[in-house]
Amino acid sequence: MKRKRASALGSLILVLALLGAIYSAYKVLQSPAFETNRPVIDMPAERFWNSHHPFHINISDDTGLKKVIAYLSNGKERVKIADVNFKKPPKTYTLQIKYPKIGFTDNSDNLLLTVVAQDISKWHFFKGNSSIKKERLKIDTRKPDLFSLITSYGITRGGSALAIFKATDKNLKELYVETNFGKKFEPTPFYKEGYYAVLLAWPIKQKRFRAKIVAKDAAGNVAKARLGFFLKSRKYRTSYLQAKDRFINGKISDLAEDEPELTANLSPTEKLKFINETYRIKNDNLIKTITSKVDHNRISSFDIHPFYPLKNGKVVGSFGDHRYYWYKEKTNIISESYHLGIDLASVRMDDIIISNPGVVVFANYNGIYGNNLIVYHGLGLYTVYGHCSTLLKQRGDIVEAGEVAAKTGATGLALGDHLHFSTMVHGFFVRPAEWMDHKWIQTNIIDVINNAKKMIDK
Ligand SMILES: [Zn+2]
Repeated sequence: MKRKRASALGSLILVLALLGAIYSAYKVLQSPAFETNRPVIDMPAERFWNSHHPFHINISDDTGLKKVIAYLSNGKERVKIADVNFKKPPKTYTLQIKYPKIGFTDNSDNLLLTVVAQDISKWHFFKGNSSIKKERLKIDTRKPDLFSLITSYGITRGGSALAIFKATDKNLKELYVETNFGKKFEPTPFYKEGYYAVLLAWPIKQKRFRAKIVAKDAAGNVAKARLGFFLKSRKYRTSYLQAKDRFINGKISDLAEDEPELTANLSPTEKLKFINETYRIKNDNLIKTITSKVDHNRISSFDIHPFYPLKNGKVVGSFGDHRYYWYKEKTNIISESYHLGIDLASVRMDDIIISNPGVVVFANYNGIYGNNLIVYHGLGLYTVYGHCSTLLKQRGDIVEAGEVAAKTGATGLALGDHLHFSTMVHGFFVRPAEWMDHKWIQTNIIDVINNAKKMIDK
């Protein structure tokens, strides 16, 4: 009886000891030293590579990395390109992949990259957790082929031009026309596979104009080709206008009520400066944003006709006019602005005719432009109609050539009934005179397109 009790006690102690051991082992294995998370290797399944520029792979582990190995294989040969053993285990590591200078006897355009990473965990009998990842590298060392087919002969400061070019690459990724003023003009696919057309603008405030086509492929190869234009500088008018009290207390004060918080504490002349500069920028930016969009569907023609928005419109304000406003004395300049359209006047509430087919992209109130209509005609060309009394179209409406889409008025910053007409190319205000000139359109747009088609068809 006594012995039995003693042996039961012994068993209990043994069980407790065992439980304790299991618990300790559990605690040890639960400790970070025995964690079971594998290192994370951040790489895609496939990538285009030009083999000249190294690329990077990020590797991380929650406890620390012990070892990183990388191989490149062309199917027949395998070259070790990295073998790193860390003395101080990092939690993150950036592995640089460079094409091996020696190793491959065969230039294959298909390589397999293998990356193995091991962490410092004591799991797996102190071997640690490891990850292995493979990536297909498609070698493409060929630059895109670029060829400028034809352009408008020249471009005028403040004006527009057309360029048609060819760009081909197996893996073309980015294509644009880069300019000296930072704008990237997006081309539109033109006529046949591999050809593109792009309207360009030389913004009036830029002293110089330079443009080059830039093509990048998925492997990072870049080709550039300069677009040559005969550059025509142009002088624009400077005018000095008297800011009369009647104007400030009338139109200016009315417009200031659009922005009550910003204008409440301004003096009358400060109000004029605010409307003519700050508010103008806001209204212009809305127009610029709306007219920056270019469609990417292939076009095979661009049959644009001269714009004559008013039947008997007389030009009463010119494009690019640098206007200074003086108050009480001619030397007291209180504000300045550029007039980025032309003003046309005829009879009150005259019909505004849209000379070319398009889509209405804006038909709403827009500050100094009053009731404002914007129509898109394709290839990045837009027309803008300001100060309207009535808008007869809505956003999304299609307009036919010759259709009446609005009536002239004096809404916004306008003194008498007139139309403010602007032409926009890729979000830039450009000279309407060019788009109202039959000869300019024929030489710079229509002939360029027709000649390009002939060259493509040859
Ligand atoms: Zn105007």
